[in-house]
Amino acid sequence: MPGSKFELTVLGSNSAIPTANRHPSAHLLNVNERFYLIDCGEGTQIQLRKYGFKFQRIGHIFISHLHGDHFFGLIGLITTMNLLGREQPLTIHAHKELQELITYQLKVSKSWIDFKIHYNHLPTDSQIILDDGKITVQTVPLSHRIPCCGFVFREKIHHRKLLKQVIENYNIPVVLLKGIKQGDDYIAKSGKLIPNEELTESPPKSRSFAYITDTKYKEEIIPLIKEVDLLYHESTFTEEHKDRAKQTFHCTAKEAGTIAQMANVNKLLLGHYSVRYKTLDPLLLEAKSMFETSELSIEGQTYSV
Ligand SMILES: [Zn+2]
Repeated sequence: MPGSKFELTVLGSNSAIPTANRHPSAHLLNVNERFYLIDCGEGTQIQLRKYGFKFQRIGHIFISHLHGDHFFGLIGLITTMNLLGREQPLTIHAHKELQELITYQLKVSKSWIDFKIHYNHLPTDSQIILDDGKITVQTVPLSHRIPCCGFVFREKIHHRKLLKQVIENYNIPVVLLKGIKQGDDYIAKSGKLIPNEELTESPPKSRSFAYITDTKYKEEIIPLIKEVDLLYHESTFTEEHKDRAKQTFHCTAKEAGTIAQMANVNKLLLGHYSVRYKTLDPLLLEAKSMFETSELSIEGQTYSV
């Protein structure tokens, strides 16, 4: 829908080690007041509180991989949801070992959860793993030290928009309008065929957001993230620490910029910063040397898709 919300709030912008003002990975996507949490590092529930988000509005949680800085906040968030009286089910999209981990933590702490948790185990290839009527979510296989998965969130294609005045002029019965929105032509009482293009206008462009972390530099992902409106791509290091990036299967900011440029995305958002960078400007400069519309992700800020 034109004007409807499709925006990302950054809750955690650092990699493994937090600082006083940078937390491990966590992001909240708001699609017209439906909330999707992407990664859930330690402190995520505190960050949600700090920025005024309601826990129970989150219906789906996506965990990219099972390194602690991407999911150590999950058990705390789940148990808080329960303490707050949650009834509606929660779906967690993650690698299959996570189910065992969470179930075991709940069991030994005798934390009985009163709502249903559905686990959706991530595939190793690229698949649509969610279609909830508002968005689809497609997986992007990444290359990290353990199995890791990126996600592309796409608004579902909207119906064509009725041209009210034309519809009224032809006096088209209401029962036919659904079909016309889907592309039907109309046969007027006179027998004349009115083509759909005369009755409707194109729907607004469907917006998309790709979340790519953690991974070594991987050009194979480009066809899957081509021309997305917003690309979040990890930029753990600068080129100065390129060897470290290679060893740990991470990217430099310059590499993130290169991927953004090759995929012809609209905007690049950097993140997953190493604790060694006190100031983030060098990362931004590097990314911008390859792709001008790069931006730093800053905790508490919301980025419109
Ligand atoms: Zn990792």
